[in-house]
Amino acid sequence: MIPVRGYDGARVAVLGLGRSGLSAARALRAGGAQVLAWDDNAHARAAAEAAGFTPVDLTRPAALEGCASLIVSPGIPHLYPAPNRVVSAAWAAGVPVDNDIGLFFRALASPEWESFDSPPKVIAVTGSNGKSTTAALIHHVLEAAGRTSQLAGNIGRGVLDIDPPGDGGVVVLELSSYQTDLARALTPDIAVFTNLSPDHLDRHGGLGGYFAAKRRLFAEGGPDRAIIGVDEDEGRFLANQMSEGAADDRVIRISAGGKLSGPGWSVFARKGFLSEWRKGRQVGSIDLRAIPGLPGAHNHQNACAAYAAARCLGIAPKQVERAFADFAGLPHRSQRVAEAGGVSFVNDSKATNAASAAMALAAFTGIRWICGGLEKEGGLDALTPYLGNVAKAYVIGREAAGFALQLGDLPHEVCTTMAQAVARAGAEAAPGEVVLLAPAAASFDQYDSFERRGEDFIAEVERLLKG
Ligand code: ADP
Repeated sequence: MIPVRGYDGARVAVLGLGRSGLSAARALRAGGAQVLAWDDNAHARAAAEAAGFTPVDLTRPAALEGCASLIVSPGIPHLYPAPNRVVSAAWAAGVPVDNDIGLFFRALASPEWESFDSPPKVIAVTGSNGKSTTAALIHHVLEAAGRTSQLAGNIGRGVLDIDPPGDGGVVVLELSSYQTDLARALTPDIAVFTNLSPDHLDRHGGLGGYFAAKRRLFAEGGPDRAIIGVDEDEGRFLANQMSEGAADDRVIRISAGGKLSGPGWSVFARKGFLSEWRKGRQVGSIDLRAIPGLPGAHNHQNACAAYAAARCLGIAPKQVERAFADFAGLPHRSQRVAEAGGVSFVNDSKATNAASAAMALAAFTGIRWICGGLEKEGGLDALTPYLGNVAKAYVIGREAAGFALQLGDLPHEVCTTMAQAVARAGAEAAPGEVVLLAPAAASFDQYDSFERRGEDFIAEVERLLKG
């Protein structure tokens, strides 16, 4: 744990007692703060009580009086579609609103660092898609190269739960837009922006607000190196804004869309080959085509970002290449779960929006596509260019018929349940084809989480292959 200093003896309110809220509460307590913890949910309050916190109802009038700060969990709206009433009360009372990420960046450096040969570094990864994969891949490459690395943030471990990094240690953080929007301190050494496509628009008041939230990681923090995906206008805008000119190598441009030229530092993937260019010369290359844990152009984009991050820390191209070769990939992201009779079964349950599902459709051909669920804003237009790779869609979800209507001429079948979809897709798939779960929708109409949906897919595939 990283104890949060600077609040010794002060009252700090913590709203939301899930993973990150509880971890913030513990770290604040360890630093000597008096924690006022609250969650509207009784189960979460019970968990906090079990951890030794006495819940204090922050929704009561004047509850925030005398508080030095209000720490808010990422699941709680802090502005749009409407601010949580405790957040509004903090504004009215002049109490600074922050989150665990802000606390982390202020608490990380310790006096001990002065005796280190090499101060710890923080790499923070944001973007619409590929954050988890890129962060996990960077962590994997660092470990393989013998560097001590810890992975935390949106990926599942509270940032304040990590061990204080030692001499030469690296912390790799995955940060969501909710987290970057609210944090009062954001000072990574290396910041990564993978890509941008519409998501979570309700929480950011539209696409502009969503991009602005991610941009804070760069604009506020002034990282030493900014690794920026330039396959969209927003990325090109950000790269331009962060650099003093074409040769400024504090910005590393990455692309999975084609060759990048110019005198600066760039890493791009073209036809499955990654190339690194610096000062107008190629300085490294990797054949990504046969790497099982990184299928498809979208993963090649993640590979470019992870490669660039490793290079910023002085890791040689050959070391990165060796580490890529045994990257296992993450569950529920382009995860090959079975192969039978020449048919592959791939679980991409994490494809919860149209842009990520489009990438999954681009990565394969002869697809028996299991899709549908709780639809996101933005529609399905991003999928259109890749529907030629789909042999047939098998639509799941409570609103399966409505979802199917949007598929136009594409052959499809309304299956509603995962069991039916896997059975039908499995029965109709020919050798060489792929049964792919890439829903292009959230899971909450039928499941608690995308993980549960992916596990259900795997269970149904196992049942199909046994029977
Ligand atoms: P995030 O943490 O940003 O949600 P993940 O690595 O968990 O990203 O991947 C989320 C979904 O997006 C998965 O369906 C995955 O296959 C897909 N994906 C991964 N990387 C990319 C990328 N660079 N561009 C588009 N989609 C991607």
